[in-house]
Amino acid sequence: AKDPTNSTAKNFTGYVTVRGAREHNLKNIDLTIPRDALVVFTGVSGSGKSSLAFGTLYAEAQRRYLESVSPYARRLFHQMAVPEVDAIEGLPPAVALQQQRGTPTTRSSVGSVTTLSNLVRMLYSRAGDYPAGQSIIYAEAFSPNTAEGACPVCHGLGRIYEVTEKSMVPDDSLTIRERAIAAWPTAWGGQNQRDILVTLGFDVDTPWRELPQKDRDWILFTEEQPVAPVYPGYTPEQTQRALKRKEEPNYMGTFSSARRHVFHTFANTNSPQMKKRVQQYMLSTDCPNCQGKRLRPESLSVKFAGYDITELSRLPLKRMASILIPYTDGTANLNSQQQTDHPEQAIVAQRITQDLVARIQVLLDLGLGYLSLERSTPTLSPGELQRLRLATQLYSHLFGVVYVLDEPSAGLHPSDTLALLKALEGLKKAGNSLFVVEHNLDIIRHADWLVDVGPDAGEKGGQILYSGPPQGLQQITTSRTAPYLFGELTLPARTPRQPMGWLKLAGVTRNNLINLEAAFPLGVFTTVTGVSGSGKSSLVSQVLVELVAEHLGHALPLEEEETDTLERTEPQETGGYITAGMESIKRLVRVDQKPIGRTPRSNMATYTGLFDYVRKLFAATPMARARKYDAGRFSFNVAKGRCENCQGEGFVMVELLFLPSVYAPCPVCHGARYNAATLEVLYRNKNIADVLNMTVDAAHSFFEEEPLIHRALSVLREVGLGYLRLGQPATELSGGEAQRIKLATELQKAQRGNTLYILDEPTTGLHPADVEKLLAQLNNLVDAGNTVVVVEHTMRVVADSDWVIDVGPGAGEEGGRIVAAGTPAQVAASPDSKTAPFLKQLLV
Ligand code: ADP
Ligand code: ADP
Ligand code: ZN
Ligand code: ZN
Repeated sequence: AKDPTNSTAKNFTGYVTVRGAREHNLKNIDLTIPRDALVVFTGVSGSGKSSLAFGTLYAEAQRRYLESVSPYARRLFHQMAVPEVDAIEGLPPAVALQQQRGTPTTRSSVGSVTTLSNLVRMLYSRAGDYPAGQSIIYAEAFSPNTAEGACPVCHGLGRIYEVTEKSMVPDDSLTIRERAIAAWPTAWGGQNQRDILVTLGFDVDTPWRELPQKDRDWILFTEEQPVAPVYPGYTPEQTQRALKRKEEPNYMGTFSSARRHVFHTFANTNSPQMKKRVQQYMLSTDCPNCQGKRLRPESLSVKFAGYDITELSRLPLKRMASILIPYTDGTANLNSQQQTDHPEQAIVAQRITQDLVARIQVLLDLGLGYLSLERSTPTLSPGELQRLRLATQLYSHLFGVVYVLDEPSAGLHPSDTLALLKALEGLKKAGNSLFVVEHNLDIIRHADWLVDVGPDAGEKGGQILYSGPPQGLQQITTSRTAPYLFGELTLPARTPRQPMGWLKLAGVTRNNLINLEAAFPLGVFTTVTGVSGSGKSSLVSQVLVELVAEHLGHALPLEEEETDTLERTEPQETGGYITAGMESIKRLVRVDQKPIGRTPRSNMATYTGLFDYVRKLFAATPMARARKYDAGRFSFNVAKGRCENCQGEGFVMVELLFLPSVYAPCPVCHGARYNAATLEVLYRNKNIADVLNMTVDAAHSFFEEEPLIHRALSVLREVGLGYLRLGQPATELSGGEAQRIKLATELQKAQRGNTLYILDEPTTGLHPADVEKLLAQLNNLVDAGNTVVVVEHTMRVVADSDWVIDVGPGAGEEGGRIVAAGTPAQVAASPDSKTAPFLKQLLV
């Protein structure tokens, strides 16, 4: 590495020095990087950027911080992983803003993450317009999550749930015996209810719709729970005779109306499947008391600028700011009555709105003005969430901190990148340091200092190829980053493929899309572009996916949600239909960035199916056969083979008082996940835990003679995942890695053509060199007769596609239209497109 004191670029105030870093694949490296600067870490995926920035620098800062604050925690630290490094000097305390791995489990909203909601509540409490005679209410009473604030009818949920005859009896031509009451339990539970009805004298063999309304209402809605003798297997006549004869019944059954069953199950079951099943029969409507606003009437009666607090919280931040601005300089007057009665209110309003507007401005600068305070964070993309957190930090007035960020440009259109750079600049000016892992060339160019890690991934990486001001990287011939940073900007001209037909949508209404028409060319590679929030995902990942799936009769995979289904906000208005083109689509594959599993029990080997073959190999070894170990024995999810102390997780959770719990390696198996007997079985001198510890690259040579395994591993390498370990838990994988694993799993299958592939920002987390590999794979899919549609911000990918659909022009209400559609050259020439200027730069 270059000696920083020779640097001609800038005079830095101080340096962080690292000696002997060996975390993960790092090769005992030494490094000196400036403080109070924007330091960008570059390199191909798996080269070791994160191991250095997060695994070493951030982890060490965190460890020192915890050690300094909690002597109690210190005692537990020997169980916590300490970064493999000899020494780090000059390291300030660190704050990490990492891309969310997996979906956030905590329920929160834009307002709570940014803490803006607290300020807005304060504004309403202290400076709102109260109806005459109403006394002032505390800020908490403007939150639906408090007893003081929650609407008493819906308990702050905003929705009430009900069941109707139509929802519980979808087909009223059926008889009760034919299961007209779909909402009742299946199997025995439903039969039991039917038999009780027979005993009670109801007709179970007449079509539902012909039964008297009084009977139908009782069966569906009664709160009574009569207990009745049950004679299973008897006809109604036999049952009546048995009753008359007072024949001993089989048992006494308790009746439960369909509504009672649905609500009782929903409220009490522990099984998500049961919950989901009964939920199908529930209809939700806005609470009539609060109109879905979740607050009690007294809170909603307080207005500011004519809006109640919920109305204000539902506006895009951009609109909210423009409403508040007149109050910041006193140009807007409060209600005159208020002003005479409480002159201090005007001053309070001014103070709070000034603070609010200044904070909102940061969010607007980061291109997030289309969000509303009420928007729930699980519906945000990881990039949006990271920028929200960044904005919150910008306003926290911390200084002397190092912020460690993971690809803050993810999800950002090139036209928004400048704002991001300004935000980073702001943090730096306030006296902070920035360590950023990034692939976006515009950001890399703006760095004060570059650290290029590589040259390749895993074992073939982990070295510092360069550390210094950006321009010096040009001299480094081993760098994979230099050619993209300093090379030819434009791409060689190529002739776009001709569409083989068109998939046409009409009447598309979703989020900010209103009655939109869209046409996707078939048999080619299409990119969908537009600023963040313009409506790309609404169009592609939501509407297109749903309509095509519905046409194909695929049930959409139910979202595995961990959030309480009651709190999910349903899409308001949705519409759209396919008018042409479905005849040539036989299959739909969505390759998204959702995790491949939510627990450390799933990993790449299990997800791709590769592990099944591996387990069979182990079961076929002489020792396994002699001991009668089957393939199940080699699964860490099955009791017989796994370590019982950690139940096959390899980790145990350590609870820390006042601090988030940490995972520590299992003291019994030391992370191997299996019991000792299982580990005695060797296949070519490796036990099953050794295999899970291999990288894809290593396994690729190890399993050379096993064609099925070898093939699966080849595909994983082709999508740039050669550096991942087979057993790396799903929870440790980034969204981009999960997406590439899904893509590889798909590529491994035989290609039949006529498949529509949909990908949302597949280049996230990818170095330009990896992007090329990914593009080659996607182009192979197209050449095999498939259609690929990709939401994308990387202009190199857009320039290389056959067709571009540009959504916009702006975000939220200012977007939602198709601004331009055509070949890259055609879209680059569009005067209205915000994408055009950036695309033009790449085309000759
Ligand atoms: P980058 O950030 O450049 O994509 P990483 O630092 O994430 O690269 O990974 C560098 C190497 O370290 C890779 O070979 C990767 O498989 C390995 N690695 C990453 N995380 C872990 C982990 N938790 N345990 C062991 N190895 C890991
Ligand atoms: P893009 O993919 O171009 O970034 P999106 O389709 O995600 O844009 O968003 C378009 C608009 O729809 C934005 O105003 C966004 O806030 C809104 N939106 C997107 N998803 C949801 C949702 N689940 N609930 C409410 N609004 C949403
Ligand atoms: Zn209510
Ligand atoms: Zn264990």
